[in-house]
Amino acid sequence: MTDILGHKKVFDVLEKSATDRQTAQSYLFSGKEGIGKLHVAIEFACMLNCPRYTPTDHLECGICDRIRKGNHPDVRIETPIKGSIKIDRVRYLQSFLKYSPVEAPFRVIIIDDAHLINRAAQNALLKTLEEPPAYSLMILVTSRSSHLLPTVRSRLRKVMFSPLTRSVITKELVRIKNISEEEAQTVAGLSSGSLGRALELHSAGATNLRKSVMDFFNAGSNFGLAPLLELSAQVSVDQRKLFDAIEFGMTWIRDLMTLKLGGPHSSVINTDLIDILRPSAQHYSIEELLRIRDLMSNGLALVDSETNINRNLVSDVMFLRIRQTMSGKSA
Ligand SMILES: [Zn+2]
Repeated sequence: MTDILGHKKVFDVLEKSATDRQTAQSYLFSGKEGIGKLHVAIEFACMLNCPRYTPTDHLECGICDRIRKGNHPDVRIETPIKGSIKIDRVRYLQSFLKYSPVEAPFRVIIIDDAHLINRAAQNALLKTLEEPPAYSLMILVTSRSSHLLPTVRSRLRKVMFSPLTRSVITKELVRIKNISEEEAQTVAGLSSGSLGRALELHSAGATNLRKSVMDFFNAGSNFGLAPLLELSAQVSVDQRKLFDAIEFGMTWIRDLMTLKLGGPHSSVINTDLIDILRPSAQHYSIEELLRIRDLMSNGLALVDSETNINRNLVSDVMFLRIRQTMSGKSA
């Protein structure tokens, strides 16, 4: 078995259904982005189509190898092109499922980011979900199952994936990126249980952004106006960056709350900054921290909801008000 990280329970259930021949014909694999849902879907296809599949290592197997590489005639792994899956693609997949398997017991289609199947294509897909051809199996993989039509969702067997634990992500980061355990633990804490997000956060850009945001929060009311406006301009160049900056700020609040309320050390996210965070936790009252959190939530909601909003202005106001709150004056 290749590494299925934190999804052993899900994997065991799938394996049991395969052994007992109790599989459904259509599945919905849902859960956070970047936690390995697609990987488990591919392993499920291997499990169903390889007579030698056992839960022990057999990476040398030719059948599984072709499935994993997308070279097996009976298994298709579909990903959106230019951010969507259109009706002609769905029709092609439907015709693929209609034919009997060439080599394997099942014809399998795995659609990654299935929430990007457009509405017309989802409606077309319904026909296959209502009357699936014999020996066919379809797995829709998504981090946004609410974007699928209720009529589609209701015809799928749901398999929910939990976020990965901090220790699983830490271990993976150390393995993949060859970084220190301490650094890995900090990045893992910031990743909300997603290995994909953790890898993104480990990139130079994200590391620098986090440092700038943390410098601001740690300096509090001593942070100068010019660097504040510079930071604001830097983070508001695009929406993603501003969201990231707010997310980093939220972890600062969470850490201070944890320290203030005597929560376990292991729950602190910014472990590398703990010596700076401790005195700050003493310095601010809970009310002040909640007010800062609300300022960030409001900023986030504004930028998220309005398309033509002046991000830089929202960001300026947000940072200024946070600084004002940190100086002990009511914002
Ligand atoms: Zn195999």
